[in-house]
Amino acid sequence: MVKGYIHSVETMGAVDGPGLRYVVFFQGCPFRCLFCHNPDTWKMLPDHQKSVDEVVQDILKYRDFFSFSGGGVTLSGGEPLMQPAFTAELVKVLKEQNIHVAIDTCGYVDKTPDIERIVQQADLFLLDIKHLNPVQHRKITGKNNDKTLAFLRFLNETHKDVWIRLVLLPTYSMDDAYINELIHFLKPFSCVKTVELLPYHEAGKAKWEKLGLTYPLSVTPPETDDVIAIANRFKAAGFRVLAPEKKS
Ligand code: SF4
Repeated sequence: MVKGYIHSVETMGAVDGPGLRYVVFFQGCPFRCLFCHNPDTWKMLPDHQKSVDEVVQDILKYRDFFSFSGGGVTLSGGEPLMQPAFTAELVKVLKEQNIHVAIDTCGYVDKTPDIERIVQQADLFLLDIKHLNPVQHRKITGKNNDKTLAFLRFLNETHKDVWIRLVLLPTYSMDDAYINELIHFLKPFSCVKTVELLPYHEAGKAKWEKLGLTYPLSVTPPETDDVIAIANRFKAAGFRVLAPEKKS
């Protein structure tokens, strides 16, 4: 029986999809994002393996809570699609239990039979687009964006619900021209139900240092007013937007 490399779980997550979510954080990620706040998930460690049954049995303990809120289970990471056989089996069992399943992914995958099964069965994809420009994308993640954009096209062809997650990183992904480009690019994708704006923050810095890694960014987090202005531009273009609100 295939086992999964699981980093940790959060039983009452409120920021990874609709309602309250049981969030499973997978180990392993193909990217090395400059702003990653979970660098401790990058590697797969053999002493963190769990079976589908072990994961599901724990999820079921919290089912009443997340179901009542209109929530479900989110598979996150790290990158859950880096373990496609395990993830496909987990999604299948969760759907047999009639649980809403969201996949939080960077989309850096090939269209294998396991990935196709996951796409068919999961309810929602939270797809991170780190940058549309391939050079900028490589600077931010260390990898090309071609697979991510191909995965978005695949999700659109299969009529899945997609929330696009955008990290707003000053000097990389917040200027007017780039926001225009993003809106223009995303507009034709009927699968995109929501755009979620995630302002860059430095919360991951301590984890990098704890792991003996040098935090690579020295960027000031964006002003809330700038984030609100970007949110308004997406709203004006017809998108549902999730973004932090100004504190009064
Ligand atoms: S895709 Fe997510 S987990 Fe992977 S390096 Fe980037 S931010 Fe970190």
